[in-house]
Amino acid sequence: MEKYDLPLKIVKTRKSSASISISVRSTGIRVTAPIWIPSIFINKFISSKHNWILEQVERVKLPSVKKGIVNDSTIPFFGKKLKVVYHADPNTSLIKIELEDTQLKVIHPPGYTPDLIENIAEKRIKAWIFERALVEITDRANHFAKRLEVSYTKITLKKVSSIWGSCSPDNSLTFSQQLAGAPLAVVEYVIIHELCHIVHRDHSSRFWALVRSLDKDYKDHRRWLRDNRQELNIY
Ligand SMILES: [Zn+2]
Repeated sequence: MEKYDLPLKIVKTRKSSASISISVRSTGIRVTAPIWIPSIFINKFISSKHNWILEQVERVKLPSVKKGIVNDSTIPFFGKKLKVVYHADPNTSLIKIELEDTQLKVIHPPGYTPDLIENIAEKRIKAWIFERALVEITDRANHFAKRLEVSYTKITLKKVSSIWGSCSPDNSLTFSQQLAGAPLAVVEYVIIHELCHIVHRDHSSRFWALVRSLDKDYKDHRRWLRDNRQELNIY
């Protein structure tokens, strides 16, 4: 008999039905046949369905293509990988987001369908992520501003896809929300970069020397951002 990527199991039933049936699931191939059919006929039947079985095996092996952030998604958060887990709780009447180790729990009232939760959860998760990202970024901006002896006017986190950060003429700093998915050292580089623009408005060698004085690996961090843009697209 042909070999498949999934275990094949033949189950004989005492039912009087005369037909052989095949079902293919991600856990295996199951062939059900009445007990009185000789194995040679069952094997012939399976061989005759060979191409169909191959197709089904490929189909069930494919990871389910899910859109956006849903149950079981893994999302990057400042260098950590958080796993999104939907969790029914009879004591809640609203959808809540809670972090437990590396699990980002979407607590929902029992009886909510996955579709209903998905509609609400992604927005809530992003709000949760960006709220914390702003706190982290502000904290680090304050630290590096002190070291550079500069001050900024405000920090905004925004959905911008073309830039990682910017520094306006009045020294207000804007950062891309997508940075929430980057490792902290990379986020720090972007913060340092924008703060150094308060001192040097250009990308001169004096500017880069100042960046290097606070982040000697800044070239690696720039490269990381170039190479991982796709992964950060989740935000
Ligand atoms: Zn710049």
